[in-house]
Amino acid sequence: MKLVILDRDGVINYDSEQFIKSPEEWKPIPGSLNAIARLNHAGYTVVVATNQSGIGRGLLDMSTLTAIHEKLQKMLLLAGGKIDAFFYCPHTADLKCSCRKPEPGMLLEIASRFDVDLNRVPAIGDSLRDLVSARKVGAKPILVLTGKGQKTLENGGLPEGTEVYADLSEAVNSLVG
Ligand SMILES: [Mg+2]
Ligand SMILES: [Zn+2]
Repeated sequence: MKLVILDRDGVINYDSEQFIKSPEEWKPIPGSLNAIARLNHAGYTVVVATNQSGIGRGLLDMSTLTAIHEKLQKMLLLAGGKIDAFFYCPHTADLKCSCRKPEPGMLLEIASRFDVDLNRVPAIGDSLRDLVSARKVGAKPILVLTGKGQKTLENGGLPEGTEVYADLSEAVNSLVG
């Protein structure tokens, strides 16, 4: 199977320092939903792996996260695409869990759930921790400059082999031509 792993905030939708705490606050970055649909049409299964420590901080609960993802899917459906699965880490950093990126736990769970080898699987994110978790499992780290991406690029220290694109749409162009 052909798989792509996406970070959510700053890649699919606008990020917020105050966290995305409601469906109303979830707003897609122009072109991102269309880009996911193009991946689907090219035969890719698309999954999301997202740190959501706002849950651990009590800023939103699971049912709100589900409602946010239902909004995402609904808008994506109108663009002709779908996310096959959402993987999220609800923990705060101090818990030192194995799923919060840059740890590779969510990616390993994806590998196990879909019974797929993550070697060279594109993993697209806007933060260093997305790229580091990708690198840890042999996936292909791809940085987009939306969200925190520009700052991530300026801070340097990107994992070896990281590809950089302006946004999700351009990253997808590199995958599906
Ligand atoms: Mg992000
Ligand atoms: Zn976690």
